[in-house]
Amino acid sequence: MIYLDYQATTPLAPEVAKAMHPWIEEKFANPHSPSRWGHEAAAVIEVARKQVERAAGLKGGSIAFTGSATEAINWALKGTVERADEGRNRIITVATEHAAVLDTCEWLASRGIDLTVLPVGSDGRLDLNLLARELDDRALLVAVMMVNNEIGVTQPISEIASMAHGAGALMLCDAVQAFGRLELCDGPDLVAVSAHKIHGPKGIGALWMRKGKEPAALIHGGGQEQGLRSGTLSPALCVGFGAAARLADERQTRDYDHAQKLWTAATHALGSGWIINGSTAHRYHGNLNVRRQGVDAARLIADLRDIAFSLGSACASGSGRPSHVLRALGLDYREARSSIRLGFGRYTKQHELVDACERIAAAAVAQEKLDA
Ligand code: PLP
Repeated sequence: MIYLDYQATTPLAPEVAKAMHPWIEEKFANPHSPSRWGHEAAAVIEVARKQVERAAGLKGGSIAFTGSATEAINWALKGTVERADEGRNRIITVATEHAAVLDTCEWLASRGIDLTVLPVGSDGRLDLNLLARELDDRALLVAVMMVNNEIGVTQPISEIASMAHGAGALMLCDAVQAFGRLELCDGPDLVAVSAHKIHGPKGIGALWMRKGKEPAALIHGGGQEQGLRSGTLSPALCVGFGAAARLADERQTRDYDHAQKLWTAATHALGSGWIINGSTAHRYHGNLNVRRQGVDAARLIADLRDIAFSLGSACASGSGRPSHVLRALGLDYREARSSIRLGFGRYTKQHELVDACERIAAAAVAQEKLDA
């Protein structure tokens, strides 16, 4: 199989598997118990915490581990609403956000939060003038992602954060697709990340919180994570996340350059007739989202079973619904249905990617002939 779905998840790094191994096989102590073994487990969790914080590179805050980035985002949104000052009840977000943000915001709106979902341009970028118009003294939180999971388009996070702060609001950034791949933008008060997008294990994420801006606790119990997120931490998952973060930090330039080279090779191998969805200038190049007139992308995926690629996002692919992100760019139903997402990175071999792109292009041409 040629794996080209790096936005859905990434292969576990061998170094990460090795670091996790003793904590799965032998070392089972509860990190919150007072025994020597418990202390040892607690100590490796603190090392992992520092590794994730160092890789995030943000100043003035710390992370709490969560079960996923989805949990971190739910916590950030709901916990910020919980501790909001009187009169601040507006959340402003963007139409191309991940479902973890959009669905949570919708749920909050059903409970009385005033929600504004801003549109994007055909390049997938937010017009900051639109945001400026919406920011007032009722604004509580602005939630914008750094790198879009479907189209790879980036947003000007630091500028958005200072605009939010200017209105007395906080900013949440979903940095799941940026963390470990790009340097994170300074400015947000809350930043959600996930281990499995950086060659770490599934089932663990983190919320970086600026000191003094921590959301109210959502999960109550044993008081772990400074009383903010109860539940026994898994040393194996924390160690895996830490190892993955350290590796991503060490290899960031190398991985980035590799993704750039792969992008050039992939666009070349696909050949003409494909249109890139979203900005080409403002994007992470490990994500190539393209469409071709008349192509049925679902049929392409079915025809090429030994290549793992996606319709839009992993979630949209399963549902059969056209991607809300592509629709937000102004693509019509047919254009959205003729779009594919190729995601690649650290372990992608250039020759495999080129082979896959040539076969995808050939299958698209064969479809055209069949349908003509
Ligand atoms: N945000 C973005 C941009 C994502 O791509 C994903 C994963 O698909 C998530 C949030 C959710 O992350 P997790 O799988 O850790 O819940």
